[in-house]
Amino acid sequence: MRTDKMTEQRENKHIQGFTLAELLIVVAIIAVLVAVSVPVFIGKMNQTKNTVCEANRKILVRQMVLDRLEDSDYSEADAVAVMENSDAYCPDGGKYSLEWDELYIKVTCDKHGSTSSGMDEDIKVSSNFIDDYRDFTIEYLKDHPTKNNDEIRKAFLEKYNGKWPTLIVDKKSYSIQPFYQGKDKTKPVEECVWLFARANGNADAGWSVPYVYNIVDGKWYGATKWDGSPGGSANISYEDTASLDEAIRNSKHSSGKNQWVEVTGYKESK
Ligand SMILES: [Zn+2]
Repeated sequence: MRTDKMTEQRENKHIQGFTLAELLIVVAIIAVLVAVSVPVFIGKMNQTKNTVCEANRKILVRQMVLDRLEDSDYSEADAVAVMENSDAYCPDGGKYSLEWDELYIKVTCDKHGSTSSGMDEDIKVSSNFIDDYRDFTIEYLKDHPTKNNDEIRKAFLEKYNGKWPTLIVDKKSYSIQPFYQGKDKTKPVEECVWLFARANGNADAGWSVPYVYNIVDGKWYGATKWDGSPGGSANISYEDTASLDEAIRNSKHSSGKNQWVEVTGYKESK
């Protein structure tokens, strides 16, 4: 009997449910939550669309850069065709347009902005070039262990059909060239290769150069004149990449000005 009573009480409690006042409060709370979360949700959606659009633009630019490296006949029309038929499109219905020249490729979404080849670190000419030179030097030294910097550079240049890549600063072109510090053959090659750039057609002017590529941070540095202004030249024949990096960051003229300053706003091309 007692058990039946208890069951009955429990059932009664279940049926009771909410009072009207409680319900109104619940509805009011839900209304507040919705009012707060909908704008947050919409904001997140827009952020997400923006991120997806940017990622898609990067995919397109990278695809075009790689296609162009592989195919010398690759044209702007080919790139446009890639852009229009790709699965990488704006998730918000934005329209993509293309800017194209010898040095860079830029895809712009009319809703979300631009992505250009120069902004993407991993497709930079210099970082590919130095990787290529390092691998070449390692292989070359296996067969020709006594060869020096000049000879390796010469053999490597043949691989590049006699043409170095180009660095453009302030509308002037410089040829990007590799350097191997082979004094100590016991040192790993990857610690002994770097890049510099000098005026075109100035092939044998020693190791005093206007620009050097610091592979430690992936940036170009320009040599300064004594007063720290750009347009100087400095020696880049260091022991290894670490001492080159050290010199780039810390070398000073007797005037106290830095001997190297970071170059911004440059372009590179193969
Ligand atoms: Zn977009």
